[in-house]
Amino acid sequence: MRSHLLNDMTAERYRRSVTEGVERVANRLATTRRPFTGVTPDELAPVVSAIDLDRPLGDASAALDELEDVYLRDAVYFHSPRYLAHLNCPVVIPAVLGEAVLSAVNSSLDTWDQSAGGTLIERRLIDWTAQRIGLGPAADGVFTSGGTQSNLQALLLARQEAKTTDLAKLRIFSSECSHFSVQKSATLLGLGPEAVVSIPVDRDKRMQTVALAAELERCRAEGLVPMAVVATAGTTDFGSIDPLPEIAELAGLYETWMHVDAAYGCGLLVSPARRHLLDGIEHADSVTVDYHKSFFQPVSSSAVLVRDAATLRHATYHADYLNPRPTVEVGAPPASGGLRGRIPNQVDKSLQTTRRFDALKLWMTLRVMGADGVGQLFDEVCDLAAAGWELLAADPRYDVVVRPQLSTLVYRYIPRSVTDPVLIDRANLHARKALFASGEAVVAGTKVGGRQYLKFTLLNPETTTEDIAAVLDLIAGHAEQFLGENLVHAS
Ligand SMILES: *Cc1c(COP(=O)(O)O)cnc(C)c1O
Repeated sequence: MRSHLLNDMTAERYRRSVTEGVERVANRLATTRRPFTGVTPDELAPVVSAIDLDRPLGDASAALDELEDVYLRDAVYFHSPRYLAHLNCPVVIPAVLGEAVLSAVNSSLDTWDQSAGGTLIERRLIDWTAQRIGLGPAADGVFTSGGTQSNLQALLLARQEAKTTDLAKLRIFSSECSHFSVQKSATLLGLGPEAVVSIPVDRDKRMQTVALAAELERCRAEGLVPMAVVATAGTTDFGSIDPLPEIAELAGLYETWMHVDAAYGCGLLVSPARRHLLDGIEHADSVTVDYHKSFFQPVSSSAVLVRDAATLRHATYHADYLNPRPTVEVGAPPASGGLRGRIPNQVDKSLQTTRRFDALKLWMTLRVMGADGVGQLFDEVCDLAAAGWELLAADPRYDVVVRPQLSTLVYRYIPRSVTDPVLIDRANLHARKALFASGEAVVAGTKVGGRQYLKFTLLNPETTTEDIAAVLDLIAGHAEQFLGENLVHAS
């Protein structure tokens, strides 16, 4: 069994084994023409259940053969130009290379003595991101597992910085289109069920700042305490960007923490054409970025950035066996400012302890492609969304919501002959399901004003307007068939 341990004596076995795995995936990618096979849970579950985990195959080739059946053949492939559903991106090769390196070396980024250079690389990328945002010289941050964790940590800091310790009095303001992790975080942080005040959006699905101002004023008048305003820079459903400069002004006026959830929109930080859409983000006290959404990075790769490094002390706890007090460097300038002889332990800034070296993927990406290279890919999908909107707007079969700022299109099939809104909802739901079952394309669904809509989240620069047009035809076909069957039935 020791021959399976990765070490100096098994380097050759490692090379062969991983190479074989890479070969399988490469073949799969080269021959997969659809995003999905349409397999159902009922078909696949028995295949997985039938495997006896207590009877190992003993050899990687056999395990890879088996993996074809339980996973690889029927996986959902985001690299397919017709995968248009959720905020999943195709990944860039330098990042996948980074992933292979980081899992083999297996650094853990909690302390310097488990990572060394890994810690410095992560800190450089945090500084680089903070600089792109414009957070100023005292900024800092840390990589996280995803936007959900980044938002939780940002709101933890905001809670600790708030002007009261009476949790029942704290209020968080975010738009009705903000991510559900805001609500989840509020609960985890011990705030009451009323803590998150939902601010209405305008026609473009951006937070109405007049309503925000009114709610902040009402909060103050009622003797409550504004804990944070969460602006979303790229809502999950519409890609809409809240008016950051106006929100910053109000946050300043009411002396409250401003968090920008740029989990989706962070790709604009490197966009040669669209960086201005994030103007105002530099006023934030904290920012969430998901490199695994718009930087074409494999899951997971995310970070939370803060304007004032000192606020990260709210995540600092000590253990004698890990990061004893003398090594702590609360509020010290980031790596570029010099370490002043202190030992950099990233665990002092993180909610996690053992932590992946996800930063390496972004590092490899920037070293191979450069920031502009990543930003151009994101610009391409935003351009594609704009073209897709034109298609939808000109198509009498479809109703399309807001013109996209990023790369999302929300639309629904509207038959000419049918007026029953429930039937139209069902036709759209059916079309999505039938498309998924066919495996020809994958699209998402959402609700707008209580009605069923469909959604394209475009993150693949290989997707073309022809793909979009073809998928719209497929959806219309499924919806028409459904209506045909159900109208005959009704009459
Ligand atoms: C995806 C998303 C999140 C959550 O990020 P995860 O990485 O999935 O945890 C938070 N906010 C917004 C706006 C998102 O789109």
